Amino acid sequence: MEKARPASLASSQTVRVSNPGGSSPFVFTCDHASNFLPAEFGTLGLPVEDLSRHIAWDPGALAVAGRIADTLHATLVETCVSRLVIDCNRPLDAPDLVPPVSETTAIPGNTGLSEKQRAARVDLAWRPFHETVAQVIEQRLARGQETRLVSVHSFTPVYKGRNRPWHIGIIHDDDRRLAAPLISALQRLSGVTVGVNEPYPPADRVYFTLERHARSRGIACAMIEIRNDEISGETGQRKWADLLTGIFSNLEPEEARGSRQGAMGKSVQSAS
Ligand SMILES: [Zn+2]
Repeated sequence: MEKARPASLASSQTVRVSNPGGSSPFVFTCDHASNFLPAEFGTLGLPVEDLSRHIAWDPGALAVAGRIADTLHATLVETCVSRLVIDCNRPLDAPDLVPPVSETTAIPGNTGLSEKQRAARVDLAWRPFHETVAQVIEQRLARGQETRLVSVHSFTPVYKGRNRPWHIGIIHDDDRRLAAPLISALQRLSGVTVGVNEPYPPADRVYFTLERHARSRGIACAMIEIRNDEISGETGQRKWADLLTGIFSNLEPEEARGSRQGAMGKSVQSAS
């Protein structure tokens, strides 16, 4: 995978850009790609084994997103720090930006933080991630390059004791330009249970990266959640990456075909 970072992009170790000159119209983010904790945080008071659980990251999501991005020659922006330090897919005023509890696990190292400590975490990982995503998109739009934003996540099969039956979920708000054809394509597959706004809807404030970078610019977007037991090993990761790559290869946002609100972040003349 191409790992070069243009000098103009944030150079912090807490964010990584793959395929920065991606020719694909799709730009991917992996907001919970890593369970890495910088040494200064220790284990945040958790047993080491908790750091490999879904509370620390989205297991398998980066492997899938990276394979899709490489095959499509699409730009991928990923976080390199655990969501336990700071959750890049949350607004700055979210109570779980620095989660005191994740699912049912208390995070001792996240309680009683000073404003200065919280601000340091924002500067460490949240700000570099969002500045990088913004720069990637702005540079593409300045070039007139068609751009659609997709965030790739994974979810745990059982949450607070409740089984989640979906193999994959597509999360969207009232802009369904990209989500609708994506859902249709997935629903045509046999043996795949597709959740629509499952395992959670945008109202749960899980849609932040797409709101900040896509919705604010009129860019078509969608959020993908893959159940993590489907992508716990290389075989499953390849299966889902190849399946989604095939779908993305032919995926056109619905309204881009005949709407003034195109997928390029600028007006597209109606053909009708
Ligand atoms: Zn996630």
